[in-house]
Amino acid sequence: MTVVRTPLVVGNWKMNGAFEANRALIEALLALLAQKPLPALGVCPPFPYVPQIGALLAGSPIGWGGQTVSEHRGGAYTGQVSAPMLRDLGCTYVIVGHSERRQYCGETDEQVSLQAVAALDSGLIPIICVGESADEEAAGQTLAVIDRQLAPVLTTLAGVADEGASVVIAYDPVWAIGTGKTPTPEGVQKVHAHIRQRLMDAGLVQSRILYGGSVKGSNAATLFALPDVDGGLIGGAALDAQDFSTICTAAANRAV
Ligand code: PEP
Repeated sequence: MTVVRTPLVVGNWKMNGAFEANRALIEALLALLAQKPLPALGVCPPFPYVPQIGALLAGSPIGWGGQTVSEHRGGAYTGQVSAPMLRDLGCTYVIVGHSERRQYCGETDEQVSLQAVAALDSGLIPIICVGESADEEAAGQTLAVIDRQLAPVLTTLAGVADEGASVVIAYDPVWAIGTGKTPTPEGVQKVHAHIRQRLMDAGLVQSRILYGGSVKGSNAATLFALPDVDGGLIGGAALDAQDFSTICTAAANRAV
């Protein structure tokens, strides 16, 4: 099988947005990106705004998605949203296991693996987040933490996903999210190469690995030039059309 890892950029709006501001942001983004080379591209607004963003992006090359998904297909799970529901809303992507969900909602490695399978089962592309805390980084535990987070995901996916499955891993060091700090390029590449090896061992040869954590227009080209970085998961900068478009261009210009 020919391995093609098209660069991917996904904006995570977190719990930000309002109808008017969303419209202005998407219109500005579409204007900035018109006639530019594009990576594969998605934006993930809060659930209430998914239909609005879907309507604004319909017919454009930009996809949209959710910020989490239930591991269940339906039933008595008050407050949860299922993968088939996200598909009904035209979603392409869903973020799972973001560190803010792990920290504030107690999501476990096992649960994240089931969410990823639920997403794949419904034809969504799961963007599975992993990454170490500041304390874990200081203790030199980065790779061990990532192995622990990935283990149930890879075991579960090995049973259901073929080698061409659209699975995306996002390396999001917790200490880099929203802090303006990033690991060194060498540090990012080391972790991505490690994740790549784990994916290859599990037969997921086509999977892309995104870097997330304080990516901006000013550092995107350096990060995306790294051999095992296939694009980015973007938080704060996804709320700024100019910065986000610069990041998208940096990804599109990355040699595949
Ligand atoms: C994120 O939320 O996954 C993220 C990477 O945030 P930021 O870009 O703001 O650091």
